[in-house]
Amino acid sequence: HRQVIAIDGPSGSGKSSTARAVARALGLSYLDTGAMYRAVAVAFLDAGVDPSDVEQVIAATTGADIDISLDPDDRWVRVNGRDVTDEIREPRVAQHVSAVSTVPECRADLVRRQRILMDRDPRGCVAEGRDVTTVIYPDAPVRILLTASPQARLERRGGELGGRVSGEQLRDQVLRRDADDSTLVDFTHAADGVHLLDTTHLSLDEVVLAVVALAKE
Ligand code: C5P
Repeated sequence: HRQVIAIDGPSGSGKSSTARAVARALGLSYLDTGAMYRAVAVAFLDAGVDPSDVEQVIAATTGADIDISLDPDDRWVRVNGRDVTDEIREPRVAQHVSAVSTVPECRADLVRRQRILMDRDPRGCVAEGRDVTTVIYPDAPVRILLTASPQARLERRGGELGGRVSGEQLRDQVLRRDADDSTLVDFTHAADGVHLLDTTHLSLDEVVLAVVALAKE
């Protein structure tokens, strides 16, 4: 049978590393839904769209040709034919991504594409992102909400970025985005049927083992 594992969580909760490692361990494809929001942000910034011009943001989103890798060992994303794998991690993208993610028409368009991508691999998929357990794939047999204390999340994101950003940029990337996203999802409560996994005191390996165990239940 197909395995579908949906993992939600805020920035720095470890959802990307966890989802990729679980996909590798179980031989499934992997979808980073946040990379699609980021790729659209790059597309509208490239096009010189004013982030407050909702009509134009919607047009840039629905018109964006997004091509994304589903291989957990080879992550890349292209938008409108251009490779933006590295660019989507730039602070200016994190700063502007909520111009896309707070617009319902943009979300509806990306959610529709994300469902198709999650259904592509006959073996199944591990998908991560802020609404994957509640909106994109509420029927996924395994749904997990990863949480971690704000301090732990700041430290992890800082480690991922290898000290390339200042403490202030880091707080902007983690805590300000929590605030920007707080209208989208409630990360303090797990929806019905969603397993809540607090990773504050767990290593990545421990989190992966816990998720794989849930998948095998
Ligand atoms: O997961 P990541 O931090 O890369 O997501 C970037 C942004 O994309 C989030 O801050 C959020 O605004 C948006 N997003 C979303 N729904 C998703 C994934 C990401 O709204 N499923």
